[in-house]
Amino acid sequence: MSATETHAFQTEVNQLLKLMIHALYSNKEIFVRELVSNASDALDKLRFEAVSNDALTEGEEELAIQLEFNKEARTITITDNGIGMTRDEVIANIGTIANSGTKKFLESMTGDQAKDSHLIGQFGVGFYSSFIVADEVELVTRKAGTDKAEGTKWVSKGEGEFTLETVEKGQKGTEITLHLKEEMDEFLEEARLKTIITTYSDHINFPIKMEKSEWDEEAKESKSTGEFEQVNKATAIWTQPKSELTDEEYNNFYQTISHDYSEPLAYMHNRVEGTLEYTSLLYLPKQAPFDLYDRERRYGLKLYVKRVFIMDDAEHLMPTYLRFVRGVIDSADLPLNVSREILQSNKVVDKIRSASVKRVLDQLAKLAKAEDQTEYNTFWDQFGQVMKEGVVEDFANKDKIAKLLRFASTHAEASSEQRVSLENYVDRMQEGQEAIYYIVADTHAAAKGSPHLEMFRKKGIEVLLMSDRIDEWLVSHLTEFDGKALKPITSADLKEFEDEAEKDLTEDEKQAREALTEKVKKAIEDKVSDVRITHRLTDSPACVVSAEGDMSAHMARMMEQMGQ
Ligand code: ADP
Ligand code: MG
Repeated sequence: MSATETHAFQTEVNQLLKLMIHALYSNKEIFVRELVSNASDALDKLRFEAVSNDALTEGEEELAIQLEFNKEARTITITDNGIGMTRDEVIANIGTIANSGTKKFLESMTGDQAKDSHLIGQFGVGFYSSFIVADEVELVTRKAGTDKAEGTKWVSKGEGEFTLETVEKGQKGTEITLHLKEEMDEFLEEARLKTIITTYSDHINFPIKMEKSEWDEEAKESKSTGEFEQVNKATAIWTQPKSELTDEEYNNFYQTISHDYSEPLAYMHNRVEGTLEYTSLLYLPKQAPFDLYDRERRYGLKLYVKRVFIMDDAEHLMPTYLRFVRGVIDSADLPLNVSREILQSNKVVDKIRSASVKRVLDQLAKLAKAEDQTEYNTFWDQFGQVMKEGVVEDFANKDKIAKLLRFASTHAEASSEQRVSLENYVDRMQEGQEAIYYIVADTHAAAKGSPHLEMFRKKGIEVLLMSDRIDEWLVSHLTEFDGKALKPITSADLKEFEDEAEKDLTEDEKQAREALTEKVKKAIEDKVSDVRITHRLTDSPACVVSAEGDMSAHMARMMEQMGQ
């Protein structure tokens, strides 16, 4: 036996452990789900790699997860015969947090238990959830295909450090033993554990087995029979017909794959047969994940080929702007050894992707048209900014996405809530009004306080008030809707309003105006390219406009801020 080495946790891990234990206390049974889901991932990975290297199975036919408990020792043990980890992998995966979003996440914690547990729910605490119920955790693992003497034992009390030791391990895979805290006796009951598994892990694609026990009349207690029985259904949920599934089953599956403890906003389950054969089960979350804008964040779709897990985070299956969609795609037409490179330029993937995008957009259109707008409003407040990216990213669906957009507007300007659709706007357009007018500013207050709005208010013409960072970019790509141009009210090119007022002027009046503009122009000629009389203002004496084709003032300011 080798010497035991002691290692310190990353600072972030310590911080996270402390927060988590408090925040998730009322949800403590989720550790079962997290450990079972890791075991299932490990089995998925083994099955995938064994396709090209049969030796990795080490002669074991069945891939399964075992859950055992021991009342005397007060332990729970979860075992899988999956891919396992090398010593280096244990160090890299357990005891460190690789995700760059973690720091940002920790900073977002408020100290308010209810809020924090919600945040943690979206973060996906994974393996560390063991420390909610255990005061010591032991993990023994061996990578499939390595020497039996090359096992690794990791032990920690979750208090800043862990020890590592090289040990012998006969079976490939991982065995995790939790030494339960004093008050955690509830998890030493067979019925309780079974309920947790059927609630959270029923659809895990591998059998989860528990020891069968029988009532011993003499001892007046139930005793283990030494036999194991499967306690979950172990049929992938997406392979079952819709009619046989309940909302609750769909929701539980969502929670297993999304690390989100809330219910999804909507799900879409479709089986496609014909020239292309695949099943998709897609979910729209209610809440944006904290790392929605993190470039390194993972994508939410899992790819399977004929029920065999291929990869997580299959970014080629969804465009970037729909990165919040969670779910599974199971194809019958891709090779099992498909790689990310192949996915990048594959006709089957392209077709699945465009059909999936269509499903998501159609589902959103349905919510957007619903009598009760609560759900769509929730969606928009969480994901509206990302949907705006879609106008630029997804040219083919530009019109569909444009209908989903929501803006603040002078129609209800007291509120900065984005509730007005372009269709609403068009319906309210004035007789003879040809364009859709908008203003982009840094804040909603600045937009609605702009002097450019004066004439529009007077004429009763609605103006969209935009103040999201992405809006300037959006309107530079969305130049028309329903055959009507989108026009910034800050542009000089608003002749439709100028000409009408100009035509009743006398010659004298015209001359006086020219003299005035000349004078002003001279005074500030190094700052502006032209000075003109305007009829757009009713209360303010002057305003700055941008010439057509020029950068707008807002864009110019943004570029300046970025140091351009
Ligand atoms: P996540 O599952 O989201 O990656 P976890 O904290 O649950 O985060 O697990 C961290 C990592 O530890 C996993 O990504 C995996 O590499 C490794 N791991 C955890 N459990 C197992 C297991 N049973 N078998 C093999 N690797 C595991
Ligand atoms: Mg995990």
